[in-house]
Amino acid sequence: MTGKGSGRPARHVPQRHVPQRTCVVCRRQVDKRRLTRIVRTADSGVLIDPTGKRNGRGAYLCDQASCWDKVIRHAGILNGALNAQVTEAELAAIAADPRRPAPAEAG
Ligand SMILES: [Zn+2]
Repeated sequence: MTGKGSGRPARHVPQRHVPQRTCVVCRRQVDKRRLTRIVRTADSGVLIDPTGKRNGRGAYLCDQASCWDKVIRHAGILNGALNAQVTEAELAAIAADPRRPAPAEAG
């Protein structure tokens, strides 16, 4: 019998570095892939940036429904993060975006 068992504990698996960004609402550091970027553009105002590549000052929103809720209800969060005056229409567009997570069902 050999002394080597086959059930080794899982070792650290090297991972590719995933860029992290901070959610503008909850301040958690989250993988960039799980964040939605909101950008203040020079020509089209404040909008969601699905590519993450538009020029302009950006703010990141994580995939928690509560964070989306807060940012939509409290324009001041985006106003502060983007140094902008976010309009009702812009907030409505963010609220209606398909990327918005469905609110968690409260039991
Ligand atoms: Zn968040």
